[in-house]
Amino acid sequence: MTTWPTQAECRRFYGAPGTNQTILTLPYDMTYDGKVVKRMTINKKCADSAFRALTKIASEYSASDRAKLGLSIFGGCYNNRPMRGGTQLSMHAYACAIDFDPNRNQLKWGRDKARLAQKDCEAFWAAWEEEGWVSLGRTRNFDWMHVQAARL
Ligand SMILES: [Zn+2]
Repeated sequence: MTTWPTQAECRRFYGAPGTNQTILTLPYDMTYDGKVVKRMTINKKCADSAFRALTKIASEYSASDRAKLGLSIFGGCYNNRPMRGGTQLSMHAYACAIDFDPNRNQLKWGRDKARLAQKDCEAFWAAWEEEGWVSLGRTRNFDWMHVQAARL
C-alpha cells in the first residue's frame, strides 16, 4: 500500500495543480448531472490506486446498489480551487480527491444525515482505506462525499 503524502506535502508529491494528470477509464460507469461518465481526470500518482479501489467496489456492489447508494454518482475530481472557507488549495486542485453523490452528502452534514455514512456503505470505504485513502467523513464526520489520497 502506498503511504500518501500529508496535505502539506501534496504540492511536492503531486506537482503543481493541473500538471501530472492522466485520464482514468472507470471500471464502472458513473453519472454526473444525469449524464454517463466513463472517465475522470486524476493525478498520475494515485490513478492506479483509484482504479483498484473502484474495481473492488464494482465487485462488492451490483450496478443497481451502486446507483442506489450513490457510489456511481460522480461529484468531481480535478478542480483547481481553494478549500471551502479557506485559502489553502483543496486536494481537488492536485486531482487526488474524488467526490461522490454531493447532494446526499453535503459538506456540513454528519453521520446522522449523510447517505454514505450508513452501514451499507462500509465496503465502499474499506475499498478506499485498503488503498490508504482518507475519508473526511470517517475521520472528521463532515464532507462525507469526499475521499482523498492524502493524509491529514
Ligand atoms: Zn471533495
